[in-house]
Amino acid sequence: MARVFNFSAGPAMLPEPVLRQAQEEMLDWRGSGMCVAEMSHRGKEFMAIAAQAEADLRELLGIPDNYKVLFLQGGASSQFAMVPMNLLRGTEGADYLNTGSWSKKAIAEARRYGGVNVAATTEDGRFTRAPAQSELNLSLDAAYVHYTPNETIEGVEFPYVLETSGKPLVADMSSTLLSRPIEVSRFGLIYAGAQKNIGPAGLTIVIVREDLIGQPLNGTPTMYDYKTHADNDSMYNTPPTYAWYLSGLVFQWLKDLGGLPSMAVINERKAQALYAAIDASGFYKNPVEPKSRSWMNVPFTLASPELDETFLKEAKAAGLTTLKGHRSVGGMRASIYNAMPEAGVEALISFMREFERTRG
Ligand code: PMP
Repeated sequence: MARVFNFSAGPAMLPEPVLRQAQEEMLDWRGSGMCVAEMSHRGKEFMAIAAQAEADLRELLGIPDNYKVLFLQGGASSQFAMVPMNLLRGTEGADYLNTGSWSKKAIAEARRYGGVNVAATTEDGRFTRAPAQSELNLSLDAAYVHYTPNETIEGVEFPYVLETSGKPLVADMSSTLLSRPIEVSRFGLIYAGAQKNIGPAGLTIVIVREDLIGQPLNGTPTMYDYKTHADNDSMYNTPPTYAWYLSGLVFQWLKDLGGLPSMAVINERKAQALYAAIDASGFYKNPVEPKSRSWMNVPFTLASPELDETFLKEAKAAGLTTLKGHRSVGGMRASIYNAMPEAGVEALISFMREFERTRG
């Protein structure tokens, strides 16, 4: 068996101990005689798995009691609609920050339901930095403020949490949730597709303050109303049971490692090593302003784009896969989420040095 270091932006690597445990439990989950994927979501075995996963996630993030944790489907992309449908609450509109490809999509969707005030944009500079708090033009009557703390495609991460003068802060944390500790009470709502730091695709996590639930726009589909899921422990309909279970194993793995403070130390070390290697070379470049550089997604270009194909081919042969950058940015992108071992980043750095030495 030869497992590779997979630098995909998502679905991404899962921790090997998690995959091994899932393998062990595949045919018979703890004497139940069943795979978790075969269980009724209303049976006592799955209910216990689901409750444990939620408890562990609450513990990892220190989620206060007045927040609901929802285990949904539809991806972060569905949240682009669910957020305005549920949080506009009779107002004219909301504030959005335009800091990259994903916030742009969130803005386009929100415009279908209400007004959007773009409180800051970094599109002029091709999304290579996070705007400072002092640059934000927040409106007085916004229902909420939405931003994308980590832009997965551009590799831009906010080095601070926005101040919103009491307005609910909504964050698309798809590519950063669980990478470090956060103070949940500073947010009204956090959402994330699972397929990066949390677990397999198919599960979407929403953490929402209770007072924001229950005033959806007229015509909101039942499945798009947070209240439907909050009132039914995310079991109004059949939830993504296997993804929920695997995510629960990831939460236990994180707890065994010492939780998010320990993860943050490792993640910062991995990112710094890779950026240092890029900056020290005359051959690779990362366009993002240093203080806004993402710990999770590291885009970089080669001195000549003509070498891209060779780089990808030789990297793959060396067991380093899925390094091709997003088509909108070009070059390479190394996504180094929680489950990417430090050895994977070291292997990539060595490969890059050798490639530069022989081709540069
Ligand atoms: N937001 C961000 C920041 C993302 O990285 C992604 C997926 N790469 C999405 C939203 C869309 O997520 P999904 O595919 O789960 O709808």
